[in-house]
Amino acid sequence: MGRISRICILGGGTAGWMSAAALSRKFKGLDLEITLVESDQIGTVGVGEATLPHIRLFNQALGIDEQNFMKSTEATFKLGIQFCDWGRLGDHYIHPFGDYGLPLDDLDFHQFWLRSRQGGNKVRLSDYSYPVLAAEKGRFRIPEGDVNTIGSNFGYAYQFDASLYARFLRSYSEENGTRRVEGRVNDVELDGETGAVRSVTLESGAKIEADLFVDCSGFRGLLIEQALETGYEDWSHWLPCNRAIAVPCESRGELLPYTRATARTAGWQWRIPLQHRTGNGHVYWNEFISDDEATSQLMSSLEGPSLADPKQLFFKTGRRKKFWNRNVVSIGLSAGFLEPLESTSIHLIQEGITALVELFPIDAIEAQDIAEYNDRMALNFERVRDFLLLHYVATQRDDSEMWRYFRSMELPDSLQEKISAWTARGYVLKYEFGTFLPPSWVAVMLGQNLVPESHDPRVDRYDMTTMMERLERIRMETAQAVAATPSQAEFLQQYGAASGSRPVLAAGH
Ligand SMILES: Cc1cc2nc3c(=O)[nH]c(=O)nc-3n(C[C@H](O)[C@H](O)[C@H](O)COP(=O)(O)OP(=O)(O)OC[C@H]3O[C@@H](n4cnc5c(N)ncnc54)[C@H](O)[C@@H]3O)c2cc1C
Repeated sequence: MGRISRICILGGGTAGWMSAAALSRKFKGLDLEITLVESDQIGTVGVGEATLPHIRLFNQALGIDEQNFMKSTEATFKLGIQFCDWGRLGDHYIHPFGDYGLPLDDLDFHQFWLRSRQGGNKVRLSDYSYPVLAAEKGRFRIPEGDVNTIGSNFGYAYQFDASLYARFLRSYSEENGTRRVEGRVNDVELDGETGAVRSVTLESGAKIEADLFVDCSGFRGLLIEQALETGYEDWSHWLPCNRAIAVPCESRGELLPYTRATARTAGWQWRIPLQHRTGNGHVYWNEFISDDEATSQLMSSLEGPSLADPKQLFFKTGRRKKFWNRNVVSIGLSAGFLEPLESTSIHLIQEGITALVELFPIDAIEAQDIAEYNDRMALNFERVRDFLLLHYVATQRDDSEMWRYFRSMELPDSLQEKISAWTARGYVLKYEFGTFLPPSWVAVMLGQNLVPESHDPRVDRYDMTTMMERLERIRMETAQAVAATPSQAEFLQQYGAASGSRPVLAAGH
């Protein structure tokens, strides 16, 4: 194969347009011809509204103006996810995007907190977290100044309308030279010798040849699976939820800067507040609940009138055996799917794009680059899988068949090791790759009542009274910083990111 100069992206959902935007920007001026094919008739999956903080880096690298992006996609700020009824019925906690308290002498703050409980401290670890307290009060502002101060050591993400984000990135990509072709692909031609994809043919008869194909065709995996038969590693014995019902509704109440995930008897339900509406969905395991019952549970819990008919989605959790096979790189749902409990899909798209850009073939596709890409993405998927599974197994619930199923489950070794290190002395095993940093693991494990038996012995060197005073100072500073923070609706307005879809409420109203 000669120089790689023609790329065909198949699919115009979030994955397709994120790939087009990044490739057209990163390889601008390098004679790379990018064509994206999408079919309006087939459409997109139409969900995927909550993100992780990493998306800011993606947008920044493309030079996207944050306010313009937020207005165009009806986006809200997201400080974390609130989990309700996961540890026990009635429990709730927030997994924030940020660390707790402030570290001292390289020791994690939660180690001091663990010891302080022996001294009678009854304050939640969450009360030392600016993003948790701000989220609980519906407030938001951009982190400012020194990252070592309370009120600055946190991150944030967005909740947005996925179809508007795809549209936004489409204009961006077209401005950067991506050619868009509308039409349905109904034939894929393979090279008789190498088995690589040579071209795709549309219903109209138009043929698109390329050196490299990015398969963003969604669950069907038109190139990676239907044409190349790459195979799928099925993880449904670990993450068995396999269906979802999604429906948007009118918003009610304050504009909250977080996503909510409420555990149910056979799955869980999401609530994602956007500027112009609220996204809702029920993810469930069809073994233990009928589609009708899942739909009626969702519809009866909406905060306002629904804005569309409920949409049903089917999936099997797992990943493609090879993400990159021959000259096809699968990105998005074609690469695999883990349920949206921690809003990781768009992030995994971003990881795939980053790895592709870094390993982009120059003259020929090299086996070692494919291997590196596949190893990297496999680790990313596995680590997200473990983190999601943690939510189902770190629980005291046994009130339904689904919860009892998780009680007797054999865990992946990687997750078992992580839980054991935590329960022994509050240590979070560190990963080389992996989306979720130790504070996220701390949030979920403690939030679901997995309290370590001991703490790091180095904390015992500190005088208990001085340590308790320090903790109290940090708690007060956190509360004061939150008290001085505007409501999210006010901030959107001040910041120039309000789309005009909803009225502004002052903090505390
Ligand atoms: C229930 C649910 C909830 C989710 N929630 C979140 C979330 O909160 N956060 C998050 O990060 N992610 C979430 N996701 C995942 C997220 O929706 C997807 O990762 C994201 O939308 C990317 O989808 P995609 O672009 O890979 O596929 P799709 O949106 O399905 O796009 C596929 C594209 O391929 C095109 N296509 C397919 N076949 C052909 C053909 N033959 N010819 C031409 N074009 C074709 C289609 O027209 C379309 O443009 C969720 C997913 C599900 C199922």
